[in-house]
Amino acid sequence: MKIICVGRNYRAHAAELQNPVPDFPIIFMKPPSALLINDKPFYYPAFTKELHYEAEIVLKICKNGRHIEADFASSYYDKIAFGIDFTARDIQKTLKQKGHPWELAKAFDYSAPISKFVDLKDFDTQDIRFQLRRNGEIVQDGHTKDLIFDFNYLITFISQYFMLQVGDLIFTGTPAGVGPVQIGDTLDGYLEGEHLLTCDIK
Ligand code: ZN
Repeated sequence: MKIICVGRNYRAHAAELQNPVPDFPIIFMKPPSALLINDKPFYYPAFTKELHYEAEIVLKICKNGRHIEADFASSYYDKIAFGIDFTARDIQKTLKQKGHPWELAKAFDYSAPISKFVDLKDFDTQDIRFQLRRNGEIVQDGHTKDLIFDFNYLITFISQYFMLQVGDLIFTGTPAGVGPVQIGDTLDGYLEGEHLLTCDIK
């Protein structure tokens, strides 16, 4: 199982971090050891002083495939979850300045909390609203109509490079509103108003 993540996939988020809107999807990966499930708490790592939340919709791959054509892309994922792409923003800034890979800032242990998966057939993929609350206050309010590269495009693009396999996860990018978390915070994730994820920061 692999976790494929997409960077800068919402215009307003690219802008808030002073990044240009990309011409093609920015892809990075997290190892399976990044997963955090069953609403387990997240322990703030000692190596960062600027841990950020990034709320994202996560796709689950249900069929193996390579070089998937656009017309068939939607048949390769059948469930979605609410996920957080935890990012050590201070480390990422240093790595970006030096032109280095992002793994130390993005792929560390338990950096990918995800909720249970729900059936995608209950949703219109172009019309999914998702929200993150920090200590009860809405800090991110995203909508899939604002995606730069939609789910099907991501499947087509990614599968040109990486074989998609059953169980693989795709973090599809975060909307505007990313920000820091502190020890003692509680993050709650919602898909179309349904509360799916709780993550306590310890
Ligand atoms: Zn992200």
